[in-house]
Amino acid sequence: MKTWVFFGDKQCDYRNLMANQKNFFAGDRLISVTNTVIAEQVASDKVYICSIKDNRAGFNSHPQIPGVDALITAIPNQFLLIRTADCFPILLEDKKQRAVAAVHSGREGTQLNLIGKTVKTLKEKLHVIPQDLIAHLGAGICGKHYIVDEVTWRYYNKCMEQQGFYIGKTTLGHIDLQSGIIQQLIAAGIPSNQILHNNVCTFESPLYFSYRRDKTDNRQISLIGLVNE
Ligand SMILES: [Zn+2]
Repeated sequence: MKTWVFFGDKQCDYRNLMANQKNFFAGDRLISVTNTVIAEQVASDKVYICSIKDNRAGFNSHPQIPGVDALITAIPNQFLLIRTADCFPILLEDKKQRAVAAVHSGREGTQLNLIGKTVKTLKEKLHVIPQDLIAHLGAGICGKHYIVDEVTWRYYNKCMEQQGFYIGKTTLGHIDLQSGIIQQLIAAGIPSNQILHNNVCTFESPLYFSYRRDKTDNRQISLIGLVNE
């Protein structure tokens, strides 16, 4: 068994996937929609452990997993799909292949420490040791380009500081989600050398969808699964 991790860009887009409702290529792997699970993604801090019956959630007439922004599975060949266009996709791989997780962490998910809650769930429900986890961060908007109104900015900073996360000297209105998420991963017990990120800003790179740049309703997709090979 091994863990398969995939971060898509504009080449692998959510709108096309929903229009086709067919098996699709993610990189060179053909993914079956019958083995894939999509969360509703409502900017919550809810974590959901998938079972076999959740396969196909989000495709055709099968509803997405309601009210959650983080999915976990311990089932081989079940793929978890997260869609983003500025928010961060985070894929968690267990070195011992007991489980995997896919997390959507934007401003709200980050200020609620959704990633920390996901690691806690992996630990408590599936006996995954945080020190065994590898965290893969995909492309998201950087602190220079993510600008919010002052009230939202102050609230984010307050939430983060109350949980012991460091904001630093940011410019008024700017939010550095990646810095917050990395601190949360470390606080959850994941060694810093097991936190991998490509440092690509969706707002800057034309290869990615960016909601803030284009007001697009399309999203890149990220996937993770345990595979038998
Ligand atoms: Zn940027």
